[in-house]
Amino acid sequence: MKKYLVVGGSGFLGRYIVEALLARSERDVHVFDIRKSFEDERVTFHIGDICNIDDLVEACRGVDTVFHTASPTHGMGYDIYYKVNVTGTENLIEACKRTQVKQLIYTSSSSVVFNGSDIVNGDETLPYVDKHLDPYNKTKELGERAVLAANSTLLLTCAIRPAGIFGPRDVQGWPQYLKAAKEGKNKFMFGDGKNLCDWTYIDNVVHAHLLAADKMTVHSDIPGQAYFITNDDPVIF
Ligand code: NAD
Repeated sequence: MKKYLVVGGSGFLGRYIVEALLARSERDVHVFDIRKSFEDERVTFHIGDICNIDDLVEACRGVDTVFHTASPTHGMGYDIYYKVNVTGTENLIEACKRTQVKQLIYTSSSSVVFNGSDIVNGDETLPYVDKHLDPYNKTKELGERAVLAANSTLLLTCAIRPAGIFGPRDVQGWPQYLKAAKEGKNKFMFGDGKNLCDWTYIDNVVHAHLLAADKMTVHSDIPGQAYFITNDDPVIF
């Protein structure tokens, strides 16, 4: 039986990963987060800050697989993004090493390769961009680089890169766009209105994380790699 820790497990994506683990009868499921957003007696909560390595080391003890989904909400400044997404991620890598965690799966973002120019049928050969659109994107890239560089035979790592995530219980993405639309606040349009933007359904993002955990062995070609996640047929758990 494996022991799982979902860092950011009180968030939109993290909680779905927790629920998917429970749905397949995993019995050692832990959450690390600065807050507790739901009750479930099958889950052990560790309330702590990813910026504090002692909190992390305590939560990582005996863990096999860590999913790192924590990040500040949208619209914050560079300092807080850097603190959580870069320093916090470096802390987590160090905590994983100290406690002999075997796998670290980082929730990155497709935005690490986006500078505002059109991308059509992009794949993982796309390089990181020199200039990001905002500090969130830049710090997601730095966090991803740190996680992938930490890959070793002792700690296997990979990065999952969803586009914008949508699905039930989201409070940050589409609910905000719909609210703005209802209030008549959509006054500006870029381009001719035909631009396409990728979105990833929550179940597909969760499925990608679990696949990474299940299939990433030292002999697979997954360790050290980043994967875009988009939509085909939604996966029903
Ligand atoms: P969310 O805000 O719902 O969840 C993030 C969780 O991280 C929260 O529960 C929060 O309390 C926790 N957290 C924040 N700072 C922390 C800290 N210092 N220490 C411990 N916990 C902390 O976000 P989400 O939408 O579930 O996103 C999850 C991940 O997916 C993030 O890494 C985000 O960058 C990535 N991502 C999200 C989207 C999207 O559209 N939502 C798209 C691409 C990538």
